[in-house]
Amino acid sequence: MKTLVMDASKSDTWVSRSLAAVWHPCTQMKHHEGMPLVAITHGKGPWLYDDRNRAILDCISSWWTNLFGHSNPFINQAIQAQLEKIEHVMLAGFTHQPVIELSEQLAALSNHQLGHAFYASDGASAVEIALKMSHHYWRLAGKPDKNTFVCLRNSYHGETLGALAVTDVPLFRNAYGALLSDVFSVMSPDSRQATHGESANDVALRAAHELETLLQREHHRIAALIIEPLVQCAGQMAMHSPQYLRLARALCDQYGVHLIADEIAVGCGRTGRFFACEHAEIWPDFITLSKGISGGYLPLSLCLTTDAIYNAFYSDETARGFLHSHSYTGNPLACAAALACLELFKTEQVLEKNRDRARDLRAAFLWTHDDPRIEHSRQQGMILAFDIRASALPNPNAFARDVFSLGIQEGLLIRPIGSTVYVMPPYILNTEQTMAMGQGIRSVLDRILPIPSPS
Ligand SMILES: *Cc1c(COP(=O)(O)O)cnc(C)c1O
Repeated sequence: MKTLVMDASKSDTWVSRSLAAVWHPCTQMKHHEGMPLVAITHGKGPWLYDDRNRAILDCISSWWTNLFGHSNPFINQAIQAQLEKIEHVMLAGFTHQPVIELSEQLAALSNHQLGHAFYASDGASAVEIALKMSHHYWRLAGKPDKNTFVCLRNSYHGETLGALAVTDVPLFRNAYGALLSDVFSVMSPDSRQATHGESANDVALRAAHELETLLQREHHRIAALIIEPLVQCAGQMAMHSPQYLRLARALCDQYGVHLIADEIAVGCGRTGRFFACEHAEIWPDFITLSKGISGGYLPLSLCLTTDAIYNAFYSDETARGFLHSHSYTGNPLACAAALACLELFKTEQVLEKNRDRARDLRAAFLWTHDDPRIEHSRQQGMILAFDIRASALPNPNAFARDVFSLGIQEGLLIRPIGSTVYVMPPYILNTEQTMAMGQGIRSVLDRILPIPSPS
């Protein structure tokens, strides 16, 4: 009989078996000829352990999902307790305590502006829901021509066909262009575009002007503007001023266009507030959440919306309803994990303590501010990023993979996006661990990038 326990003497076997049978995501599989595939056996807190029992610090929260560490005793216990009650039940015609309490708590977190929660499993599905709801709302309101969307350049909203249509990352969308519906894209407020003397607010204003010009001309065809508030994460952690969110909200109101805030990556305290939109003191018509909402435990996503949208669908007619579904909608185990996370936010004063953690993060990467190989060192709450200058990159195509491989050797999980290096750690690192992460990343970069001689 085959053993289910990974054993060090078999580690090469695990990797080769995986490469033969598992098609890994977001990966050119042939690159694994030169890049390690790491077999993880267990995790504890910020640490992942591989089949050789090497400890790897999870600097990017396992693709931005993990908030409170791996194998967190409190979340484990909440899932186990739920498992004893009911693992899953369909959510059409049925309801259960975890989904009710989670929806109520999210409504309260939105100051009761977004009091209706529709559930799915992955982030991209929540984006599909927001897009469909927005267009369907306008149809119900007698404006069926409002059937297209606006996204920002360099946006990322997921990779199913609807979400990919509003994603502006050529590497992800080029091969599928023929399958995607047409959308409008407008200038990103990415503050790295500031020209000499311009502030981040000036860039936001320029971007909002471009949006206004488009809305003026095309608002009768546009259902919604979709944005990633404050940080376009997959778009090289491009950051912008909250002023853009205020301007976009005002323009959407003026032209009768919905605002969808995709907070799948930036929600759940990542930027310093629970919702990133709170930095601008605005509420969108839709918020999508996923990734951190279940603490990185189970696939859970949702789309929050307003009374106005909800009421437009409320009718005696079946076809006026929102007839969308996923089999695992509102899964009780995933909702129980999410409720445990929200409980931790309260009992552990996470948002308050993250202010200190964000300060540690800044201190740990202070060296990036005067390293001649680096530009645009930037931070928003628990996300810190910087770019390697083109002139300092010996091999741009292999940079991200080289950093990943050397990072694993140094005991760090880091995965640059192009020439952007970033960290997005779970909310549990102490000062020492944060400083060690900063120094570890510095020494990885020193092994790849020639250190310029002092002039
Ligand atoms: C990750 C991400 C998504 C897609 O979520 P999946 O769970 O990977 O489908 C959508 N929008 C943003 C902003 C994301 O970062």
